[in-house]
Amino acid sequence: MTDLNQTLFDRAAQVIPGGVNSPVRAFRAVGGTPRFVQRAQGAYFWDANGQKYIDYIGSWGPMILGHGNPVVLEAVQKAALDGFSFGAPTEREIELAEEILKHVPSMEMVRLVSSGTEAGMSALRLARGATGRNKFIKFEGCYHGHADALLVKAGSGLATFGNPTSAGVPPEVVRDTLVLEYNNIATLEEAFKLHGKELACVMIEPIAGNMNFVRASVPFMKRCRELCTEYGALFVFDEVMTGFRVALGSAQSVYAQLIPGFQPDITVLGKVIGGGMPLAAFGGPRAIMQQLAPTGPVYQAGTLSGNPVATACGLATLREIAKPGFFDALSARTQSLVDGLTTAAAKAGVPFSADCQGGMFGFFLLPELPHNYAKVMTSDSPKFNKLFHGLLDRGVYIAPALYEAGFVSAAHTEADIAQTVSVAAEVFAQL
Ligand code: PMP
Repeated sequence: MTDLNQTLFDRAAQVIPGGVNSPVRAFRAVGGTPRFVQRAQGAYFWDANGQKYIDYIGSWGPMILGHGNPVVLEAVQKAALDGFSFGAPTEREIELAEEILKHVPSMEMVRLVSSGTEAGMSALRLARGATGRNKFIKFEGCYHGHADALLVKAGSGLATFGNPTSAGVPPEVVRDTLVLEYNNIATLEEAFKLHGKELACVMIEPIAGNMNFVRASVPFMKRCRELCTEYGALFVFDEVMTGFRVALGSAQSVYAQLIPGFQPDITVLGKVIGGGMPLAAFGGPRAIMQQLAPTGPVYQAGTLSGNPVATACGLATLREIAKPGFFDALSARTQSLVDGLTTAAAKAGVPFSADCQGGMFGFFLLPELPHNYAKVMTSDSPKFNKLFHGLLDRGVYIAPALYEAGFVSAAHTEADIAQTVSVAAEVFAQL
């Protein structure tokens, strides 16, 4: 039988670099043919061959209600009838801003943009503009979008500045980007001692979903906060992935439960707040946010920012997930997946560790959870690839790379989880 995914992939490769519009979709890490999605509903999607999959990517996080949620669909259809884009303000932008601020109290004002990259890039510019400083810290294994200054890998020594990760990024542009090991308090303190007074911000993924699933430890998070406050640097939480995904109050609410009074200065959001439409945001205290144009000197703009259809989608999504009990149910479902996989791996004698928060999870083919990027990369990647294809062949779609998190939606049923665990048990037995 002709593989229609392969036919489409070959055709795509003629007109789109690598056949995809975002590199990870090409299955380069795991090999094989990407699935071209024909349609999706609830927890499932169907590929070009008509094959059905249980979807644990959910557009890399946004689809927290599952695909085609009727309430969201109705809101989007209604908004579309009223017009696609005006380049003028609308009431719905205020409603969405109010809804976001209601749940994330560290933010007093928010600016809406169209992608996580744009939000992260703008948050960095704002932090630099508001502090009048240029240098900043990011951590190895954290991804903050593909803006030049953020595409940096770690330097070689302690507290050294990084090297560009991508061709086309001039070394001068990343000269002020300091890349440190995640969860390493000693190097953090050293960096502040050397550069603290020149630091505009520390940017972090509080639960890093771009090295699968790695939590910032409580002592590390606490130290980041203390040092930022002491040296006048802003603490920027990139919650593009974790925002409204790990809890209604986002990852910062999880840390606030563990560290009394804890708050970041600036928060970057994306994914869930758009419900699958191109929408992202960044926000923080009024005094900082008013540094943005038109009230302040930090320029930032966008033709499609606050798009009426995207805001309708995001607003309907946020209102659904804010209903009582939503996160309890989602967390329980995600936990049962993680527990099921852990038990199945143990039965098969496969080294395995896993973690989750809210509707986000990660697992490693390692006996213990890793705490930084170097440890994540000790995962057995040929074994992961076998696991990935074993699951895929049996209708379970997880991220095609071992350094990506997974997502459970409200549309995943206990039966979906049980089916996934039983399929995984079969594959574990063959690893
Ligand atoms: N920050 C984080 C933490 C992300 O996970 C991502 C995307 N996966 C981004 C920023 C960039 O978002 P986008 O792909 O919407 O540009």
